[in-house]
Amino acid sequence: AAPTPRRTGKDKVVVAGVTLSSPDKVLWPAVGGRPAITKTDLARYYEQAAERILPHVADRPVSIIRAPDGIEGETFFQRHAMPGSNPRLKLIDVHERKPYVAVVDVGGLVAVAQSGGLELHPWGCRPGDPETPEQVTFDLDPDEGLDFEAVIAAAKTVRKTLEAKGLNPFVKTTGGKGLHVVVPIRSDGRSRIEWDRCKAFAKAVAEEVRRADPDRFTTTLAKKARGGKIFIDYLRNGRMATAVAPWSVRARPGAGIAFPLSWGQVKAGLDPKAFTLHDAPALLKKPDPWKDFRAGEVSLRPVLKAMGL
Ligand code: ATP
Ligand code: MN
Ligand code: MN
Repeated sequence: AAPTPRRTGKDKVVVAGVTLSSPDKVLWPAVGGRPAITKTDLARYYEQAAERILPHVADRPVSIIRAPDGIEGETFFQRHAMPGSNPRLKLIDVHERKPYVAVVDVGGLVAVAQSGGLELHPWGCRPGDPETPEQVTFDLDPDEGLDFEAVIAAAKTVRKTLEAKGLNPFVKTTGGKGLHVVVPIRSDGRSRIEWDRCKAFAKAVAEEVRRADPDRFTTTLAKKARGGKIFIDYLRNGRMATAVAPWSVRARPGAGIAFPLSWGQVKAGLDPKAFTLHDAPALLKKPDPWKDFRAGEVSLRPVLKAMGL
């Protein structure tokens, strides 16, 4: 066999101070006229998106979906530090056998890409404080065969239910089949609640939505209960539960991004496939519809009380 050409110092690829091994490794193969996406492309994307993504990820335990040989190879969830883990990733003790990994800065995001890490799934906790929830995620999962218009309608229903409680829900695509409705909650001082109450709140809201329209919604995890309905997955809200981060790319064909939307965009014709890593340069030029996410925080304490929880 011909000797593998050695990269000279000149074409070494360094992004945000992180040297990439196999920078030309294809992670998403070329498809339908769209070019292949390499590890260098992914690293540059996370560098460029860092300012948008870090507020939602930094300093929380994060599960990383790794696909070191690309999305057609073996993929796995990484939660803990692994041998050879990049020193740019922080370790957080969550009272498990092993500490969990966390990203703290742009170098950490690029280190994730360097390791073949594609997706970022943080806990819904406060930065640096795994025991304190600071958001609630309603993960809307359509049964197979439902069209996206049904997901759009479901997101609007969940929005109305939450706004009626004085909360400020936000919405994002997942890069997959559904939408996530996410509520920022105050978590400082006397507003702080425990994880079990966060999950109890999410479950109660999901049940309220289902009771109002049981033909459209289910809150039962079992796939067979779905029968043409939207599953309101409230289980994203316990301690150690995760949801994909806004701006995370997905290790799925198409390289979709979990894209933060404004509610104005959530209407007939919304195509979640329009937000992919290929579209990132244009998407990053637009104003961030989630820029006031943290400013939308409301304490859940009075809300829980009004709900009898
Ligand atoms: P979609 O819109 O296609 O449903 P999604 O990101 O919402 O995309 P789900 O399967 O509904 O995908 O999962 C919701 C979240 O639950 C994921 O983003 C992930 O954080 C978490 N999750 C799902 N499966 C696992 C798993 N096997 N291990 C750890 N976390 C998981
Ligand atoms: Mn989902
Ligand atoms: Mn789900």
